[in-house]
Amino acid sequence: MKKKAHKRTPAIRIGHDDRLFVLTGAGVSAESGLATFRGAGGLWHGHRVEDVACPEAWERDPELVWNFYSMRRKRAGAVKPNPAHLALAELEHRLGERFFLCTQNVDHLHERAGSKRLVHMHGELFQSRCESCDGEPFADENLYASLADIPRCRCGARIRPNIVWFGEAILHLPLIARELERCTVLLAVGTSGLVQPAASFVHWAGTLPGSVAIRTYYVGPEEPANASAFTDIFLGKAGELLPRLFEVQDSRVRGKRMRSP
Ligand code: NAD
Ligand code: ZN
Repeated sequence: MKKKAHKRTPAIRIGHDDRLFVLTGAGVSAESGLATFRGAGGLWHGHRVEDVACPEAWERDPELVWNFYSMRRKRAGAVKPNPAHLALAELEHRLGERFFLCTQNVDHLHERAGSKRLVHMHGELFQSRCESCDGEPFADENLYASLADIPRCRCGARIRPNIVWFGEAILHLPLIARELERCTVLLAVGTSGLVQPAASFVHWAGTLPGSVAIRTYYVGPEEPANASAFTDIFLGKAGELLPRLFEVQDSRVRGKRMRSP
């Protein structure tokens, strides 16, 4: 697998008929100062993250769960988008509806960088919702530290973070599947390739009958667990590689090749 890693200046060419699907994970926010789970040793105050981010933890100890997400709200609210987020927003600006971003991240750094055509498949840190009824998720930046702080819905049930916990179904699956099927280029950034179903997206991409050959790329400082599935792996930090990675053939200027600034 090592032979795939590029040492020379890499480039991803986006032709005027290409459709790009981008999948991002915790690594894209690492240079903004938000720890990845693996980077933080997978632990929070001695608890395994998987033991706090699950429905069982919420049933057992909602105060602990809200403390975890309040801490993450506080941290995420204090950081800024980095050059990787900005490069993806700039790329969307150039590709328009041929660009689609699916993030596993719950922070809002992609939006703050200017991304619009994106979905948060694992939910959003700055939203809450009822644990019981199907009331819409709502914007919420509050920090809840004790059981007494946790608000109640009109239906009487408790308000929980709008996060997809381990064991729960991901959000926006039909839209993600449609965009995956019809893309011609897939780029995964800063995701370990261990969390399903995101780790399988590289296999689902470009599977629409009659579609042209799909190209798949990974960007991150180390090879992901699913490295063998990618056409090419670009080893390095997202904030350093993404701003100079794309060679875009603009649909408005057919035939003329333009390089990202
Ligand atoms: P992960 O923690 O399992 O893996 C992070 C990956 O990022 C690793 O493969 C690592 O090599 C890579 N990475 C580290 N620094 C990087 C950099 N500068 N540039 C590019 N890549 C870099 O994260 P995951 O695979 O996304 O899965 C864990 C789950 O937890 C996901 O749902 C994830 O989004 C969530 N999570 C989200 C945040 C956030 O919203 N900011 C933070 C932590 C975890
Ligand atoms: Zn309710």
